[in-house]
Amino acid sequence: MDSKEKLHKIAQEIKDCQKCPLFQTANNSVPGEGDEKAKILFIGEAPGYYEDQQGQPFVGRAGKLLDSCLEEIGLARNKVFITNILKHRPPNNRDPLPDEITACRKWLDKQVEIINPEVIATLGRFSMNKFLPGVFISQTHGQARWANFNNKKYLIFPLYHPAAALRNGNIMQELKKDFAKLKELVDNKEKVDILQQFEKEKEKPKKKEKEQLTLL
Ligand code: URA
Repeated sequence: MDSKEKLHKIAQEIKDCQKCPLFQTANNSVPGEGDEKAKILFIGEAPGYYEDQQGQPFVGRAGKLLDSCLEEIGLARNKVFITNILKHRPPNNRDPLPDEITACRKWLDKQVEIINPEVIATLGRFSMNKFLPGVFISQTHGQARWANFNNKKYLIFPLYHPAAALRNGNIMQELKKDFAKLKELVDNKEKVDILQQFEKEKEKPKKKEKEQLTLL
């Protein structure tokens, strides 16, 4: 089976998924869509009203903003892959519950493995914390970080959720700036710098270690 067929099979399985109660209230499953060979995998939170109606991710207001951010950096929507942490809509768009995230995890994990993207761009804190637990989006957005995930290293690029940008002008500005950085990253220009910087950071002894070293 090639990647496209594998993703299609997963989408079929998601349609029949009853691992959490959300299938009972949803109209459609929203497995995600895009290029199976995408360099960038975008991961949002959960389908909203319009996504639930259409069975497609990011087709409402937040989706229109995502489309325009992609367009601004010259990326076609069908050249990336877009999905969510949850594949069924939570009632009234409430936040995903920990049990729902756990129940839905295997679908996203399989999608990540099949697509094997160069960059995972997370949209909002839920998808960011999947790869970078315990970090805060206000401090981490727009900065690429390596994360070990399922025995592989992935480059994670945290972005604010477009819905947050629609509510707050400052976040909108940050989101636009971060998309420009994402473009740099995938174009490889800044990636090299970021990677070198990351490797240097790893080499530096941490403050505590330094203190301990000086005590020796
Ligand atoms: N918000 C999300 O997180 N995902 C969608 O698909 C739509 C809105």
